[in-house]
Amino acid sequence: MADLKDKVVVMTGASSGIGEGTAKELADNGAKLVLAARREERLQELTDEINKNGGNAVYNVTDVTSREQLQELAQKALDQYGRIDVLVNNAGLMPLSFMDKLKVDEWDKMVDVNIKGVLYGVAAVLPTMREQKAGHIINISSVAGHTVGPGMSVYSGTKHAVRTITEGLRQEEALAESNIRTTIISPGAVATELPETITDDDVLKGLENSNMTPIQPKDIASTIRYAMEQPEEVAINEILVRPTAQQ
Ligand code: NDP
Repeated sequence: MADLKDKVVVMTGASSGIGEGTAKELADNGAKLVLAARREERLQELTDEINKNGGNAVYNVTDVTSREQLQELAQKALDQYGRIDVLVNNAGLMPLSFMDKLKVDEWDKMVDVNIKGVLYGVAAVLPTMREQKAGHIINISSVAGHTVGPGMSVYSGTKHAVRTITEGLRQEEALAESNIRTTIISPGAVATELPETITDDDVLKGLENSNMTPIQPKDIASTIRYAMEQPEEVAINEILVRPTAQQ
């Protein structure tokens, strides 16, 4: 296993849920973190907690729908730590809805955050990773990136896109030449704030009827850590992690 000690990790969506859990897990194992999201108070609290416990974290308020702000995030990592070893593109939204409700603004948001946010993240770190001749890009997709169901069309579409983009990126010669790994992590149901963006009452009613217990952010955090800890020549390209009871 490769040591995470002093690895510089930039992570979006760090202010709650999977991102927050992963930040704690990586900090406990010696990584140096640059944490991004829009809610500054949450980021401040999290970095304070990590640093108080002997970890090493800074934050940058970043809206991933802004290409400039992702460039600033990458620059913050370089200013602070001089390199970028890993990018975790984790920020995401899931306002599920039936398409005939025409919640077009919500479709736009999902495309902007879940797809364009990932692309801007890749664009912000790739030149540095090429120059370093090392790097690791971890993109968070979903079980919804492997399947689709009524009410999930747009969200699933964005998460399929994340997987496709990551796999296409992996196949580029420049990545192999520069020793850059890619990993897709596809979680099933995890107990986070993610469903809070759902406004479609019919979708919400359906979720209320589900009696499946979700897994916890720490369960995804340990999976992300596992991918990072492989020796440099070993790339974990994709992992699906579901609650055992999820269909
Ligand atoms: P949360 O809602 O807890 O976290 C989402 C994170 O994304 C927050 O930190 C939020 O921060 C950030 N975010 C949202 N919009 C933006 C934006 N425009 N710019 C920057 N950051 C943004 O949910 P999860 O932890 O569950 O979600 C993390 C990832 O995991 C997502 O990509 C999600 O699709 C994926 N996933 C989650 C599953 C689950 O069951 N929970 C299942 C499968 C995949 P802020 O609001 O402060 O900007």
